[in-house]
Amino acid sequence: MDLRLPAVAPSDADRAAVDAVLGSRSTRDLLLPALHAVQRRSGWISPGALAHICERLTVPPAEAYGVATFYALLATEERPPVVVHVCDDLACRLVGAESVIGDLGSLGATGERWTWKRSPCLGQCERGPAALLQRAGEGAQDVVLTCVSAGSIVRAAVGGADVMPPRSDVAAELRASVPQAGQPGLRLLRRVGAVDPTRYDAYRAQGGFAALRRALDLGAEAVIREVKESRIVGRGGAAFPMGQKWEAVALATALPHYVICNADESEPGTFKDRILMEEDPFALIEAVTIAGLVTGAEQGYIYIRGEYPLALARVRGATLQARAQGMLGANVMGSGWRFDLEVREGAGAYICGEETALINSIEGKRGEPRNKPPFPTTHGLFSKPTVVNNVETLLNVLDIVLEGSAAFAARGTAGSTGTKLFSVSGSVQRPGLYEVPFGTTLQELLDLCGGVGAGRTLRAVLLGGAAGTFLRPDETAVPLTFEGTRAIGAALGSGAVLVFDDSVDLPGVLLRIAAFFRDESCGQCVPCRIGTVRQEESLRSLAAGGPAASGAQLTRLDEIARVMRDASICGLGQTASSAIQSALLKLGVFAPRTLP
Ligand code: SF4
Repeated sequence: MDLRLPAVAPSDADRAAVDAVLGSRSTRDLLLPALHAVQRRSGWISPGALAHICERLTVPPAEAYGVATFYALLATEERPPVVVHVCDDLACRLVGAESVIGDLGSLGATGERWTWKRSPCLGQCERGPAALLQRAGEGAQDVVLTCVSAGSIVRAAVGGADVMPPRSDVAAELRASVPQAGQPGLRLLRRVGAVDPTRYDAYRAQGGFAALRRALDLGAEAVIREVKESRIVGRGGAAFPMGQKWEAVALATALPHYVICNADESEPGTFKDRILMEEDPFALIEAVTIAGLVTGAEQGYIYIRGEYPLALARVRGATLQARAQGMLGANVMGSGWRFDLEVREGAGAYICGEETALINSIEGKRGEPRNKPPFPTTHGLFSKPTVVNNVETLLNVLDIVLEGSAAFAARGTAGSTGTKLFSVSGSVQRPGLYEVPFGTTLQELLDLCGGVGAGRTLRAVLLGGAAGTFLRPDETAVPLTFEGTRAIGAALGSGAVLVFDDSVDLPGVLLRIAAFFRDESCGQCVPCRIGTVRQEESLRSLAAGGPAASGAQLTRLDEIARVMRDASICGLGQTASSAIQSALLKLGVFAPRTLP
């Protein structure tokens, strides 16, 4: 390719950072890892560093710039080496994020050493207000700060790594995030708090990799049959039958096949996959390896959102240990089968949770969704047959393989088998990650969380995150199943449960949701790119205006919602109005009315 590179040189440090990541490799899919390396080293991607990456990977500079500017955690303008991303999204707002941001704003200029900016949901909803600190340089580190105040943010930003608040009581922190930890009857959460997530031998001692052994003994066909007979469907929102997806890839004649674990969990209010990766990373390695072996893949990827530094470290550490123990590599568990894994890091883009956007991101392109069909099962990563499952979905495979499909399907309901994780946050006494059998009612889940605070009443529940649906207090008897929520016009989505009591400013919540989608739209298709902007404008005008203005704005919102739902390429545009429309219709936010 005839590259026309700008005549600017990288700094020695940037050149060394890129070369250390790439080694002798030069394929386009290494673009995002190379950009991460420079961002970590220098705190921004200079024109010289970008030109060096382009030269090493033979990527046109305009395309590389397009990728670098796509992601929120990457910067192409020089900025201080320490940046604190302060979450101002739904759950953190309910526990004081705006007041923290107000205090930070009143501090004035932060100087040359550090700065801060607002951030969409960081996936720390049970322990907000939260922030992500990125420190560039030789001792580069990303650190999650929880339960922050302006003072704790300043101390972390101006201090070095050694002054980061120590995790003084890990067990107490864990209990706060997973209130059920240690209780009998848990399936997906049973190892949380009971098995050291950093040690291979601890996982093995608790029966780890027994499912992989059994899968190798059963053979691919039998495992896929068990997965199909378990009737498990994906837990990421689309609820597609997992066995059908695996079978389609296993039978595909085009080679090679790939497996991708979608760990780019970015739906506001959702943090279940983060906790699974942080606390049970070997189980994920084992599950992805089973998926790879039975679908004929030799290479898998785990794509983890960049805002999850602990999950990234734990899964990377588990991958290294599993490979050293022969659970990955050229001869998995002595079976003669080859399968290996690579962990890829996202860089701050909600849309990369959409499977084809994620595939483009791994390939080193902008994380923009593709038109479907064709589906990834035939034209996925590098246009080859690819299984894409999220973390929670994959972890269920261990029980299906070990216990058999009948035992798995005996939990839950006929239409929704197994157990389900729910990320509960907002106005509840015990926010955290909960596991319940499908069919548990929303009210029972709220009771587990202690309900709303003393003296308050329930105003609404947002089920499924920003792309979900508001439910009224009189709808909490709904069984938490795919079919039960569908019957009332809602969906489980990612399993986010955001609870709002009667003190919450619901118009403000709707405005934040609208701003989120306006910001996260990839801009590729007109209905979503323009619709999300107009939706936010209309809500702002509703919030500012009197009743006289409301009729026209509500009609406009209905029209925008219809167009986005019917004409957008992907799920983001199709669901960008769902929560807002449900709040207008069901909760009477702005103006009580009934739509025709
Ligand atoms: Fe991008 Fe929105 Fe279109 Fe999806 S619907 S492809 S996010 S512009």
